[in-house]
Amino acid sequence: MRQVDNFINGAFQRSSDGRRFEKRSPVDNKIIANIAESTQSDVDQAVEAARAALNGEWGSMPQARRLELLYEVADEITRRFDDFVAAEMADTGQPEHVMKHVFIPRGAANFKVFADVIKNVPTESFMMDTPDGRGALNYSVRKPKGVIGVISPWNAPFLLMTWKVGPALACGNTVVLKPSEETPLTATLLGEVMNKVGIPKGVYNVVHGFGPNAAGEFVTTNKGVDAITFTGETRTGSAIMKAASEGTRDVSFEMGGKNAGIVFADADFDEAVNGIFRSAFLNTGQVCLGTERVYVERPIFDKFVAALKEKAEGVQYGRPEIKGNNYGPLISREHQEKVLSYYQKAADEGATIVTGGGVPDMEGELAEGNWVQPTIWTGLEESASVVQEEIFGPCCHIRPFDTEEEVIALANDTDYGLSTTIWTTNLTRAHRMAASVDVGITWVNSWFLRDLRTPFGGNKESGIGREGGVHSLEFYTELRNVCIKL
Ligand code: NAD
Repeated sequence: MRQVDNFINGAFQRSSDGRRFEKRSPVDNKIIANIAESTQSDVDQAVEAARAALNGEWGSMPQARRLELLYEVADEITRRFDDFVAAEMADTGQPEHVMKHVFIPRGAANFKVFADVIKNVPTESFMMDTPDGRGALNYSVRKPKGVIGVISPWNAPFLLMTWKVGPALACGNTVVLKPSEETPLTATLLGEVMNKVGIPKGVYNVVHGFGPNAAGEFVTTNKGVDAITFTGETRTGSAIMKAASEGTRDVSFEMGGKNAGIVFADADFDEAVNGIFRSAFLNTGQVCLGTERVYVERPIFDKFVAALKEKAEGVQYGRPEIKGNNYGPLISREHQEKVLSYYQKAADEGATIVTGGGVPDMEGELAEGNWVQPTIWTGLEESASVVQEEIFGPCCHIRPFDTEEEVIALANDTDYGLSTTIWTTNLTRAHRMAASVDVGITWVNSWFLRDLRTPFGGNKESGIGREGGVHSLEFYTELRNVCIKL
């Protein structure tokens, strides 16, 4: 049985009271690892180590050397690519090709991209007049914020965690990371990488465990943590915001979504079907940017529903390492129960179930896994719970619309504001729609196409702040102004 420990001050260690919890495979619910469950004192120790590193070698290291080391982190991840793919696949049960082509390479890229950003982004300076005519020079410099608490989710664990750890370290901070209890493996492997390339001890710390009254809360309530960056559910964000108010510490939040996909009759039909298929069902629907509400212009509505149904019924279930399988299980039994409860609610609320709605027949050991069918509904009111609440599963409701004004109102009728995907060949309309849908990220004729230099984040209850490119620097550094009287 794999034993997974905390990584504190450059060393792997058990929790101070020896407690552990089990990690099960989403594929068949077999126990695959025993994880150290952090105590308050483990977390305190990690925060102290992070502070000491700031005051020590890491804090005084020249920027060029620091960024060189981050390039080496990325290269070492690439050298150990197969280990990372295997670990992430064991944790999530998602198909190998998604790990190989998206989640792991992008995780490695997060270290290089932000090393380049911090190297190349200038700060400002202003000459000002003074009454004596000699003037003054203002210039600003960026300083690391300090010890960053990183609280991350399970749906794309390595990508989402490095999306925060990469810029935090590039800016000269140290981190205490609490990965999701569902996906502890790649965060731990990254500790080995840090030691291998010579990142000083205490710069990167990992404390495993749960959220409330556990490791997550121990991190967010520790006043030695200067700022908290979090990706996860909006409800959890509220709890973390309360914790961060002690000491008025800064937060960056990437949270839930109930994103609209909008398909106009003039869209390239096949591309739109493929795009919505990916946005609704990739990663078994466990993508914050995913589409759970689809609006299709009436003339193509029936044809679109039939085409999406056919694709949803063509997914290949099975073990993630087997070539050709393109559809995995949900992360946990608990999440499976949550998604199935929404499937039941949709039926109770009178949905027409176009396809799915239950658990597929799986053979042998796989019957114990957290499988659910890709599911499409039509015919519900906008007030229905499956149209309003984030399910985070492989499902969507499709509704016809007649005018732009109508679909804009429908798309914006939600407490969330993370992303949208719009399908049309009318460029003028695309710009008009992009300006009108109230979200942080709009894709036109695409979805999940990410340039890491662009701002990423949500409006309304989907988030606070933006990360990505220079925007990450706004959170991970403090700007200091220096005014020199000449
Ligand atoms: P979650 O909020 O349950 O957990 C996220 C992390 O927070 C975990 O590490 C958990 O242990 C920790 N946590 C839970 N309660 C805590 C508390 N009180 N104090 C401190 N830490 C606590 O989210 P999840 O189920 O892991 O992830 C799914 C959610 O994440 C969905 O809502 C999804 O939309 C969202 N998400 C958003 C983005 C984005 O970029 N906007 C990206 C991915 C996922």
